[in-house]
Amino acid sequence: MIEIKSKREIELLKIAGDITGQTHLYLKPYIKPGITTKELDKLAYDFILEHDATPSFLGYDGFPASICASVNEEVVHGIPDNRRLVEGDIISIDIGACYKGYHGDSAWTYTVGKVDKNKQYLMEHTEKALFEGLSVIKEGAHVGDIGYAVETYALKHRLGVVKELVGHGVGRDVHEEPDVPNYGIKGTGPILKAGMVLAVEPMLNLGTADIGILENDWTIVTLDDEPSAHFEHTVLVEKDGYTILTKR
Ligand code: MG
Ligand code: MG
Repeated sequence: MIEIKSKREIELLKIAGDITGQTHLYLKPYIKPGITTKELDKLAYDFILEHDATPSFLGYDGFPASICASVNEEVVHGIPDNRRLVEGDIISIDIGACYKGYHGDSAWTYTVGKVDKNKQYLMEHTEKALFEGLSVIKEGAHVGDIGYAVETYALKHRLGVVKELVGHGVGRDVHEEPDVPNYGIKGTGPILKAGMVLAVEPMLNLGTADIGILENDWTIVTLDDEPSAHFEHTVLVEKDGYTILTKR
């Protein structure tokens, strides 16, 4: 069942989303050559706690960190460690914050110093694919409309659409119903109603859509080693559109 959130729940989801967005803004200036992903994780952990929230991903299914930090060919679920970022990397940072039992979820891909044109292209069009997907959201639309919009945009720009991982509902659990795939057929899937809260999150690859998983059983990587980008917002479905809860 897809929950319709109450007024009170929406207020808490707005605060959780706001903390999530603020954590991104806080981290951004630190994303430079030389910093380790573990240092970024610690900065995020401290910031989230200072805002009376807890990191949604820490301990989730045993995940050992507060953020996911996925560099270059890593698609999602990169585990922060002692790897130092170097000039020319891109890094996708996925952040969840839980405030009074309600979650926000947002991922963004950042450049480390100056990156090559291909990576810039990938990032620009993955971010645009997110907003293409969001643009169809309103009461009465179908979940399949979102995936159709994301996929159509991605394929037009010759990017690989990761299909094994999907967006989702957000509420008291960071992952709720429904699944929100980045592919789909218009007019199919559950019908959206005002008060639903969804995370839309295209994961697009510069090369093919094929992915694998590292030996740590978490980190998803592209099979062809080409870079991947990930942009995600948590949004509230409204009568005539949507409101981004994880604004940045
Ligand atoms: Mg996320
Ligand atoms: Mg998510």
